[in-house]
Amino acid sequence: MSKNIPPANDTSIAIFERLESEVRGYIRSFPIVFDRGVGTTLIDAEGREYLDFFAGAGALNYGHNNPAFKKPLLDYIQRDGIIHGLDLATSAKKAFIEAFEKYILKPRGLNYKLQFTGPTGTNAVEAALKLARQVTKRSNVVAFTNGFHGVSAGALAATGNKKYRSAAGYGLAHVTAMPYDGYLGPSVDTLDYFEKLLNDPSSGLDKPAAVILEAIQGEGGIRPASIKWLQRLREITKRHEILLILDDIQAGIGRSGKFFSFEAAEIVPDIVTLSKSISAVGTPMALVLLKPELDIWSPGAHSGTYRGNNLAFVAARVALETYWADDKFEKEIAAKSAILADELKSIANDFPDLGFTVRGRGLMYGLVSENDASLPAKIQAEALKRGLVIETCGGRGEVLKFLVALIIAEADLRRGLSIVRESIGAVQASLATGSAKAAVAAEVDA
Ligand code: PLP
Repeated sequence: MSKNIPPANDTSIAIFERLESEVRGYIRSFPIVFDRGVGTTLIDAEGREYLDFFAGAGALNYGHNNPAFKKPLLDYIQRDGIIHGLDLATSAKKAFIEAFEKYILKPRGLNYKLQFTGPTGTNAVEAALKLARQVTKRSNVVAFTNGFHGVSAGALAATGNKKYRSAAGYGLAHVTAMPYDGYLGPSVDTLDYFEKLLNDPSSGLDKPAAVILEAIQGEGGIRPASIKWLQRLREITKRHEILLILDDIQAGIGRSGKFFSFEAAEIVPDIVTLSKSISAVGTPMALVLLKPELDIWSPGAHSGTYRGNNLAFVAARVALETYWADDKFEKEIAAKSAILADELKSIANDFPDLGFTVRGRGLMYGLVSENDASLPAKIQAEALKRGLVIETCGGRGEVLKFLVALIIAEADLRRGLSIVRESIGAVQASLATGSAKAAVAAEVDA
């Protein structure tokens, strides 16, 4: 892997700028034509290599083109296995469901039915919200500050971020926002407020059908809720007969250190949404897990042409067999998580003037720049010059987001972290040069 990679030639993305809508997003941070992906390495059209600390926003927990899935996929195509299956029974889907029961549900004592929705996360969230409203015959839903659940109308109403909300073009309704854990500082348990509203007939809060949340908020800025808070939320929702929807689209499939992000809190949600890395290779797939007694759907009521991506089912089944048959993978994630957390804390300590804090769990961490929200994007740009692809998140872009593939080699994890350290050094140096120049200019003016 070469170091100090020059930026890709501007003209290489000219057609995207000319013909692709202004809505395009990630390409603006990474103006490169990517061509191949191998494990945690991205390779551009000119053969330059980049270390990937982004992992498809959590869709590539097992890396790019993981060799464990390639042969089963190629074999499946070779023998004309069904690729598009609506919600027909296929052998690939059957094998996936059997594996999901054997490796995920049974060992955890979980009793869920599986709903295959259209293949995006937001579609699974829509289904979960619809179901909760149908079951309880209530329309209001409680969602949390900084939560992100997708950009289709129902999920968007439960999403906090103004940029996404304002794109709807109409008022988003039937959701009440509550403060997430830590929103009012470390000394306030925000559930005191929620519980008070629920108990007060004059609070103005319409009793919700459900509470929807991420156990570790991703897009909103890598915010893990505490175990105690999650347990108390489960207890409150149970007592008030409100359904608990756990959106595990980003924090699930091992990202938190366990298969599900709620396992650490030993709670059982009523409904769980999964997408992104459930399909293992980055092909679209989404799932809703629902307690059997909630399964009041009438046939086809939440429909969709692409509920049967059988290539996703093939890879998803192989991933469960390869990585989740025992606890070896969880142990590997824990070891890498410790390296990531330690190094980020050390970086924060080594740049005291920049005032970083560190948040996260598992292999989902954020280096937070609360005082200067422009820093993460500057670090990101420096990192890209040095061959590292890394994202930012948080409502103001104040978080540098470490979402490495769970299969990353320890040496690559350390190498990427040293690129981040170097990039922060470069940003700090340019800030110092900038303020020195400003001081000289002020003196000249005076
Ligand atoms: N829920 C969570 C927690 C997410 O992180 C995301 C996407 O980042 C979604 C839902 C929406 O998924 P999709 O972009 O596939 O619609």
